[in-house]
Amino acid sequence: MHPELAADLDELPILLEETRQRAVAFLAGLDDRPVVPVRDLPGPESESGPVPLGAASGGLRAALAEFAERWEPGLSASAGPRYFGFVTGGATPAALAGDWLTAAADQNSNSSLDPTGQQLERETVGWLRELFGLSPAHSGTFVSGATMSNTVGLAIAREWLGERLGVQVAEDGVGALGQVRVLSGSAHSSVAKALSVLGLGRTALRVVPTLPGREAVDVAALERELAEADGPCVVVANAGTVNTVDFDDLTALAALRERYGFWLHVDAAFGAFAALAPEHAHLVAGLDLADSVCVDLHKWLNVPYDSAVQFTRRPDLQARVFQNAAAYLGPMGAHPDLVHLTPENSHRLRALAAWFTLRAYGRAGHREIVERCVAGARALGEAVEGIEGLRLLAPVRLNVVCFTLAADATAERLAALASELAGEAFLTPTRYAGAPALRAAFSSWRTTEADVRRTATALARAVQKLGA
Ligand SMILES: *Cc1c(COP(=O)(O)O)cnc(C)c1O
Repeated sequence: MHPELAADLDELPILLEETRQRAVAFLAGLDDRPVVPVRDLPGPESESGPVPLGAASGGLRAALAEFAERWEPGLSASAGPRYFGFVTGGATPAALAGDWLTAAADQNSNSSLDPTGQQLERETVGWLRELFGLSPAHSGTFVSGATMSNTVGLAIAREWLGERLGVQVAEDGVGALGQVRVLSGSAHSSVAKALSVLGLGRTALRVVPTLPGREAVDVAALERELAEADGPCVVVANAGTVNTVDFDDLTALAALRERYGFWLHVDAAFGAFAALAPEHAHLVAGLDLADSVCVDLHKWLNVPYDSAVQFTRRPDLQARVFQNAAAYLGPMGAHPDLVHLTPENSHRLRALAAWFTLRAYGRAGHREIVERCVAGARALGEAVEGIEGLRLLAPVRLNVVCFTLAADATAERLAALASELAGEAFLTPTRYAGAPALRAAFSSWRTTEADVRRTATALARAVQKLGA
């Protein structure tokens, strides 16, 4: 063994304790560090620049010291309470512990030849199904994020299109399908990416009109498109759009499917969590009727990146797409191992962080996170309405506040506003209803009323400074 590896092995408990202390200090500093620090990285020519690989040595302690000096100061407080950009969850204490243990145990949980990891993943999927009101007809698999979940769902949809047309896409390729139509009102950008990956092409996506002033699909317009289509279609329903958290009427879409026989995929990346709050559960009524469902877990479940789940009623088609037949893996059987169900073969015991947080806090704990985030978004929405120079672009339906400058709302001025704010709170730009805008998404378990007040105060100050 290399002497530095041997030394680290000897000292492993102490080194892990030093690492733990770094992590604890990082978390303790979340409230004070700039939410997104602005700094220039020193280049290789600088004294404090990167060590050439040939000179890298010193074991874990040396790596820890350099990480602390060069990289940690630039890390954002995305694990903290005022990182409202994108849709960003934190990591609950139990989820964080579960993730640490995932790395420590370093399992490849994809096969019944070494079954515990896969059993734990299946138990966790069962809890998630219950959390989102899905019936046992939905099987589920863990993937790395909602983009991958949408990709897997649409891959199963692609195989279903083949079934309808009497071909097997997994065997014969997408050429066997001809032109495919994927209809959606306000599809997330990852859907176009998935269609590109799947060989269906980004132009397969046809944008269906939404209801006036809404991001929810106009069901009558969708029906007209379906009536005109000359083959089977895929419909991507949206349950929680990123700008205004609007929801398609899933029950109405399922009723349309009775007449037109399409594949219904629901992108409920973070919207599925509405099911946890009785006041909002109606928004995802009908979710169980979907043929495939995407839910992100590293957003509102507050587990560390990378984690999402993919549900489907057709695991048989899923296994047809993703089967990885190899002598050393044994036969597939009626309940295929996870190696046959997702794009990955090897994968970490990704479910453990979700298992920990669900075991630790249950439905009630996660409901409290969802409801507190919604209350926080509402409060910030009210504050925005009270700040002269700002204008809400949509009602706060769930956990996102979407707003712009009341006058002269150029993308440049909004970017200036966001960067003025970035030390205190991180918001990301968007375009909504033809206007450049900013959005604040609430999905962290750490965000409190005090954080909302602090953000509103910083926002008012930044608007004033901008001279809006
Ligand atoms: C975030 C998001 C995605 C993509 O999720 P990743 O985890 O970033 O891959 C897809 N759809 C919706 C609605 C989202 O909010």
